[in-house]
Amino acid sequence: MDQKKVFECPQTVCDALFFQKIVVVSVAAAALAAGGCGGAVDVNQRPTVVATTTIVADLARQIGGDQVEVVSLMGPGIDPHSYRPTPRDADRLARADLVLASGLHLEGKLGELLERMGRRKPVVFVAEAVAGAARLDAAAGIPDPHVWFDLSLWTACIDPTVVALAEQVPEAEEAFTAAGDRYREILLAAHEEVKAAVATIAPQQRVLVTAHDAFRYFGRAYGIEVVGVQGVSTESEAGLADINRLVDLLVERKVPAVFVETSVPDRSVKAICEGAAARGHEVTTGGRLYSDALGESGSGAETLESAIRANVAVIVEALGGAAADSGDAVQPQAAEPVNAPGDIANAP
Ligand SMILES: [Zn+2]
Repeated sequence: MDQKKVFECPQTVCDALFFQKIVVVSVAAAALAAGGCGGAVDVNQRPTVVATTTIVADLARQIGGDQVEVVSLMGPGIDPHSYRPTPRDADRLARADLVLASGLHLEGKLGELLERMGRRKPVVFVAEAVAGAARLDAAAGIPDPHVWFDLSLWTACIDPTVVALAEQVPEAEEAFTAAGDRYREILLAAHEEVKAAVATIAPQQRVLVTAHDAFRYFGRAYGIEVVGVQGVSTESEAGLADINRLVDLLVERKVPAVFVETSVPDRSVKAICEGAAARGHEVTTGGRLYSDALGESGSGAETLESAIRANVAVIVEALGGAAADSGDAVQPQAAEPVNAPGDIANAP
């Protein structure tokens, strides 16, 4: 059940824990200085990195490895836009040595709390490294926070994470830099594969209709038109006019599938399927996409890279492209529109 309680910072408790932490950190630092810096990591002395979302926690783990303990405030399937911090979060944040957030207003109320917390301990909003023309606006002057959907763009968050972690464990700076470089290569390789996979969908049907407008970076990076039923934040409900507009689009373009998201209720998406069916065009729900949260343990989508790959497999299959794992056999679809998805679904 959702925690309804809105968090208010228990100032005295926070401060007491904060000063207690300083003592613990000082003792740990002294112990490290005395013991030198061998390769082994004493798990009891590792700094605690608190990440807001599963996606940011993944970034911290990829770079921090076993040198830091990473805790994610939000679990799989949690919507960060409407998230309300809980008393347990307050405790975790008070104990954190470093807080990593996504930023660009993704975290809603929690983000405001973290900005205040930034006066007392290191709080880094990693996605703020994405600036200028690379950043999309959700509305005039309001950034679209869903940067991770363009894997090449998400690599901009690596350097600030390396710097923040190295401030916590200076002797591991080289290891963090190397891990960051490796992670950048993994993301860039996946980026190219995703682009190739999306290109196998017939151009007319490269339309991604999802519950909320999280996929605009994905659309720009990988060449697929993206239409969200709700706005960029999940905090507004889709109106009837929006739903009718989408039904028109699906019928006109003969788009075979729309998608639901793991962290957003799928009421509106269901309404669209029913609307299209009433006009004689059958639309299926193509499957569930990971949007603002990664998968549960054992889902095969616990990392950003694997979640994006899982999404792309679902999207490509539902929209009639060629499966990504068919390797060299995958051929991008030429600009000529194809009207029969069944034909290309069975293509080699
Ligand atoms: Zn979102």
